Amino acid sequence: MTSQPPAPEKQPVFDAPVGVRPAVRAVPAYPFDPVQVPTKLDQNENPYDFPEDLKQQAAARMLERPWNRYPDLHADELRDRIAAYEGWEPGGVVVTPGSNVLIKLLTELAGIDQTVLTVDPTFSVYTLEARMLGARLVQVPLRDDFSLPVDALKVQLERQRPGVLYITQPHAPTGHVDDEAAVRELMDAAGDWVVVLDEAYYQYSGTDGRDLIREYPNALSLRTFSKAWGLAGLRAGYALSGSELATNLQKLVPAFNLNILTQAALEVALENPGYVQQRVQEGVAERERILAALADHPTCQALPSRANFFLLRTPDAEVAYRHLVEHGIVTRRQDRLRGLEGCLRVGVGTPAENDALIGAIQALK
Ligand SMILES: *Cc1c(COP(=O)(O)O)cnc(C)c1O
Repeated sequence: MTSQPPAPEKQPVFDAPVGVRPAVRAVPAYPFDPVQVPTKLDQNENPYDFPEDLKQQAAARMLERPWNRYPDLHADELRDRIAAYEGWEPGGVVVTPGSNVLIKLLTELAGIDQTVLTVDPTFSVYTLEARMLGARLVQVPLRDDFSLPVDALKVQLERQRPGVLYITQPHAPTGHVDDEAAVRELMDAAGDWVVVLDEAYYQYSGTDGRDLIREYPNALSLRTFSKAWGLAGLRAGYALSGSELATNLQKLVPAFNLNILTQAALEVALENPGYVQQRVQEGVAERERILAALADHPTCQALPSRANFFLLRTPDAEVAYRHLVEHGIVTRRQDRLRGLEGCLRVGVGTPAENDALIGAIQALK
């Protein structure tokens, strides 16, 4: 019998090596504890895997490639293919392993020594990167209906030293979509600021910021293969912008940062994008079915959303979260975020998973 090695002790903040910058030490490690239950609705993933036949094609393509050679330096071939898919100029595409990496790089590009401006609540990666990279972080509260506080953001665009403004459409974690006029008003007011329109969930809302982005040389759309494409495990995301902004952003991308295996799989996905639309349609229909089924719940409120997730406002998030885990469903607590008291964020699953979800929520008093 061998004994278990002792569990590593959690390092208290003050024990960090002295060379670690205080800004990094001050940020808590990314809070995510995996919960082992059958129904995983906590990360807004696609409930369906990449289609089996495409997986086989991707695997075959991986086997054809030499693994001893470095990949394309800046993934130029893949950038060209994304550009063709998006109807974009190839010089305006930047690809990285996940759009989270682009958020780090954009914060390096325009946030360090300057300002990161966003709303509150917002996607946690914007604020974490701003804090760790030592950018000045300014957050403006969302309005009560989760719409963009356009006037208050414009005040900050005027007042703060320019940097990067992060806007998310559909917004995370509320699923709210603003009128294009509101986003345009911010872009008009942004002047020298870099404006990032994070469109991680645009397929589900049927919105598309490309035409707007084209008009503004400082604006950029962030897109990902992690959600509608069902490829979160591959890690790939990209930015669409004018070529000046893309050229500067590309300088910050580490060389060879997309490996040949990911590149091969993404090529197959981009050659066969047809599966995405059908899944998005199902996801949207399922989201609406869940919201309708919960419409007359006595204590919980499922809030409208245009993404592949929604907020469930409960009388007690801790109780509701545990109740759902006992029913084999994991969701994400959001109740500590501003204006989201009692809220869980719930991903839309397969129809069978959603049936289980509806039943479990209906059993919650
Ligand atoms: C899921 C998500 C992303 C995607 O991140 P990846 O690193 O590409 O997986 C980006 N932005 C928001 C707001 C998200 O919710």
